[in-house]
Amino acid sequence: MTRLVLLGPPGAGKGTQAKRLAERLTVPAVSTGDIFRANVSEGTELGREAQRYMDAGEYVPDSVTNAMVADRLAEPDAAGGFLLDGYPRTAAQVAELDRMLAAGGASLDAVVELTADSEEIVARLKNRAETEGRSDDTETVIRRRLEVYTEQTAPLTRVYSERGLLVEVDGIGAVEDVTARILATLGR
Ligand code: ADP
Repeated sequence: MTRLVLLGPPGAGKGTQAKRLAERLTVPAVSTGDIFRANVSEGTELGREAQRYMDAGEYVPDSVTNAMVADRLAEPDAAGGFLLDGYPRTAAQVAELDRMLAAGGASLDAVVELTADSEEIVARLKNRAETEGRSDDTETVIRRRLEVYTEQTAPLTRVYSERGLLVEVDGIGAVEDVTARILATLGR
């Protein structure tokens, strides 16, 4: 059984690695960013609510995000494990994830922190802006996303480190090398 969280700043490669790891570990990758974007493009109420925060580089309110993740993790395919990409990102989300897991008698196996220096991150996000055209990949919004990450999410690494769950993996290098590094660090 594999229950993992991927942490790291925007542009560290969480989404890319989450898809590859999920395949290797045969668990679903649950990406809150992807779920929000799917809702935006389908024009759902959740999408309308989330979009204004995403476009500003702010976090969607915890109440909205927590409810969405609780629904997703209650689906049958997540019963045998999951890989969370982009959640939790706030202290309140950590507490809510603890609650969800405890309710099912489960716990996390590891939290992988993908690291990348800010120069590399800005370069990657600018490149992604050109190739994918995500509406939150403009320079001002990128800057805000990095600030919010530093303020709200970076402190979570300490919480998980104190629990003995945190493993740090260098996110710089070829995509397949980073995947191999993560799997090796997890002993898989
Ligand atoms: P990135 O990590 O590259 O910034 P994501 O695709 O993971 O991109 O997330 C895009 C946006 O979706 C975030 O900037 C935020 O507005 C929203 N979002 C994603 N996950 C969360 C979360 N756990 N809590 C609040 N907002 C979130």
